[in-house]
Amino acid sequence: MKWQGRERSSNIEDRRGQRAGGGLGGLGGLGGNRGGIRIPTGGRGAGGGISGLIGVVVVLGIIWFATGQNPLDLLTGDGMNAPSASATSRQLPAEGQDELADFVAVVVRETEDLWNQQFAAIGENYPEPNVVLFTDRVNSACGLADASMGPFYCPGDSKVYIDLSFYDQLHREFGAPGDFAQAYVLAHEVGHHVQNLTGILPEFNQRRQSMSQEQANAYSVRVELQADCYAGIWANYAGQQNLLDSGDIEEALNAAEQIGDDTLQKRMQGFAVPKTFNHGTSAQRKAWFERGYESGNPGDCDTFSGSI
Ligand SMILES: [Zn+2]
Repeated sequence: MKWQGRERSSNIEDRRGQRAGGGLGGLGGLGGNRGGIRIPTGGRGAGGGISGLIGVVVVLGIIWFATGQNPLDLLTGDGMNAPSASATSRQLPAEGQDELADFVAVVVRETEDLWNQQFAAIGENYPEPNVVLFTDRVNSACGLADASMGPFYCPGDSKVYIDLSFYDQLHREFGAPGDFAQAYVLAHEVGHHVQNLTGILPEFNQRRQSMSQEQANAYSVRVELQADCYAGIWANYAGQQNLLDSGDIEEALNAAEQIGDDTLQKRMQGFAVPKTFNHGTSAQRKAWFERGYESGNPGDCDTFSGSI
């Protein structure tokens, strides 16, 4: 992606290196499972029954404003997530992370430009989300979050959270290298912010309370695929700004493939359990990103009616 020299967002909160929280008490800690939809990106289930099967490290998720247990939350916590990836990635040289931080700020700025335009076109304002850079753990309106959960969006404070070491993990563990894979992750999270503004997330949060977990999972897939489609809308916009290098779209599609529920589960445990999918299969995630990319019109991102 041709991002060097582009304008950066002023909505970046750099909390890297700060200590968060006072232990795992307070809002429930990372195992508090405060209502998130998150994209599982692989994880190392600790074995044993269903909870072992679905013990995953998650990324790209939403974490809900904390009220009660999240029926969708597949993160069982309790140290099930092997720390190896983040431990090694945290040894990234600071300068490498500073460049990444610049990259993030540029991508976020480009998403602001896109969504400001889109909301203005329908006579609405676009309240820009803050993007919080953190190290290891962070306090959010959704509770204390751990980097092993991956990047997430918290509707409670309208902020995107990311530990930049995730990008190293995305490359090394999930086989999704490339700066546009990284941009896709951000654009997906910003897509959740858009959903928060359009009412999609509040409606989901309300309706899932009376759903079975399986129903809520299926609903979650539609929410997540729309965020993927919105990421595609942004990729289309980036193309219009002449920011794309050859291979960029392929990097994003590969990332979508690598973090599809079926691919992740097969990598983790050798087989997939479709009723536990809550972000969509690799094929679905690629298809909806591509649809957004080819269309450029958010109106084409209706994942809620019809088949997906
Ligand atoms: Zn998501």
